[in-house]
Amino acid sequence: MTVGYLRPTRILVDQNAIYENIQNELKELEGTETVIFPVLKANAYGHGLLPVAQAAQAAGAAGFCVAILDEALALRRANFTVPILVLGITQPSEIELVIANQISVTVGSLEWLQAAYQIVQRMAYPQPIHIHLSVDSGMGRIGFRDATELLAAYTFIKTHAKYFDLEGIFTHFATADDPDDTYFQEQRARFNAMLAVLPERPRFVHVSNSATSLWHAACNGNLIRMGISMYGLNPSGNTISKLPYPLKPALSLESELVFVKKVQAGSKIGYGASYEAVTDEWIGTIPIGYADGWSRRMQGSTVLVNGQRCEIVGRICMDQLMIRLPQQYPVGTKVVLVGRSGDEEITLQEVAEYADTIHYEIICGLSDRLPRIYTGLDQH
Ligand SMILES: *Cc1c(COP(=O)(O)O)cnc(C)c1O
Repeated sequence: MTVGYLRPTRILVDQNAIYENIQNELKELEGTETVIFPVLKANAYGHGLLPVAQAAQAAGAAGFCVAILDEALALRRANFTVPILVLGITQPSEIELVIANQISVTVGSLEWLQAAYQIVQRMAYPQPIHIHLSVDSGMGRIGFRDATELLAAYTFIKTHAKYFDLEGIFTHFATADDPDDTYFQEQRARFNAMLAVLPERPRFVHVSNSATSLWHAACNGNLIRMGISMYGLNPSGNTISKLPYPLKPALSLESELVFVKKVQAGSKIGYGASYEAVTDEWIGTIPIGYADGWSRRMQGSTVLVNGQRCEIVGRICMDQLMIRLPQQYPVGTKVVLVGRSGDEEITLQEVAEYADTIHYEIICGLSDRLPRIYTGLDQH
């Protein structure tokens, strides 16, 4: 997609915030052998893959997690040499790429191993595929649900040690951000029961997403898949406010007024002419719309101009939206959609609540048309 560098709308990403969030988690882990693999899927949750990877590595990440093979390869192309785990299912047909780039893959069935074996065994110079076995302890997404099949997979790997290296075993919790831990404990017990069927533990045993590491640290294995908390956002939204360390949000979103006018009472604004000015009003236009990921559902919410909340009036267009200003402001005045202005702040949680979703979806939905500007890493 063409990036709008010449339009005054941009995402600002504070790499120091990412650095600090990881460092704070590392302090929690002091005295343990547990390492952090930051989760960089979906363009690092919309923050930008490579600059986040760089900040994370500087902060002490031991490896990375991504969702799909292409993301892992993008990191390799950028010369990141640390271990990279693909959390989703990789097609067995891509196994040569996996081996050539030393990517660790998630395996959730014996069938997958058999398919990969058919391919790897025919390669001229095979190298072991690094495997993390996924256990479905109650998430219901991917992974072994049956102890017999899990043991069969383990045996298959050990029998074909020339082709497979068992690097890890893991599970994923569905309710680690829920104050009621009943289901969490059920999952934990199921995972431990599955783990117990293996004759030996692989190098990495991992269960912790951000929520688990923040609120169930006692369950941590020896690898943390640190996602949303690295970006400075509370995994629970605002359900659980107690945190072991403050999370520092890395992302803000800014634009500028590009057109300002006074309209008379009764004037209509936007598609469908759904808004009508009650009195004479100052209306500003901002160059961001739903094509940038600012959903039409945000109509009626506010943005910040000079520390004041201004309502988005009329329907949000593909590329522009209109706001009601308390007074005349010049073209070029800064508008904050996410972040601070004066004493006011719009958090991603506020945006998510207004749009009836979670902040994860808001940040991942910010489109590639928005330029990402990085405030560089301090010298640590
Ligand atoms: C996305 C993902 C994570 C990270 O989750 P957060 O809630 O962002 O910490 C961890 N593990 C798996 C398997 C995931 O898919």
